[in-house]
Amino acid sequence: MGDYIQTHLGLTQYQITETEFGIIPMTSYPFAQNNTPLVTHIGMAGGAVKASSGYAFDRIQVHSDAIAQCILNGEAPGRASRVFKRRHQLYDATLLQVLDKKRYRGADFFLTLFQRNPASRVFDFLNEETTLWEEVQLMAGSPKHIFAWSMGERVVKG
Ligand SMILES: Cc1cc2nc3c(=O)[nH]c(=O)nc-3n(C[C@H](O)[C@H](O)[C@H](O)COP(=O)(O)OP(=O)(O)OC[C@H]3O[C@@H](n4cnc5c(N)ncnc54)[C@H](O)[C@@H]3O)c2cc1C
Repeated sequence: MGDYIQTHLGLTQYQITETEFGIIPMTSYPFAQNNTPLVTHIGMAGGAVKASSGYAFDRIQVHSDAIAQCILNGEAPGRASRVFKRRHQLYDATLLQVLDKKRYRGADFFLTLFQRNPASRVFDFLNEETTLWEEVQLMAGSPKHIFAWSMGERVVKG
């Protein structure tokens, strides 16, 4: 941090008065089940934080837009959670299963992902904007037996 402040910001005289600490919960918990006809949760409580990456800000806005659209369409606001695609929720749950069971290192997974794919495809994947064919290409570099087994476990567990 000191290096960043001095090299990039060009500051030599500074004082650190506070440091940030935070933990992003990585979970595939189905938050939408806690919505009621009268209460629609947003943010972390609304399941808007991507389980595998912690992406939140953009997804919270997409979710909030969808809630507004539901209201305009006369639909229940809780239906907005369909913007979080089930297919991608399964991918996220699979990765968490792999990491939790220590079957493959997260660092190796992401390194291979970025080495074997154009960055734009990886970011589209993290934003859940890829096609099925692009997802096949993205997964081609990962140990298939480990991920297929873990995905099967997640499907069985529900
Ligand atoms: C270190 C760190 C870095 C991150 N970086 C990124 C990033 O680069 N990009 C990204 O997209 N996401 C990032 N995230 C994730 C993102 O910040 C969070 O997922 C997002 O802020 C969740 O928003 P939220 O409104 O649901 O919850 P929060 O932002 O946590 O807001 C909840 C608020 O409710 C308050 N609160 C809690 N309980 C009560 C109570 N009982 N009564 C009253 N108030 C209460 C809390 O004090 C808090 O102010 C990061 C998270 C962390 C921890």
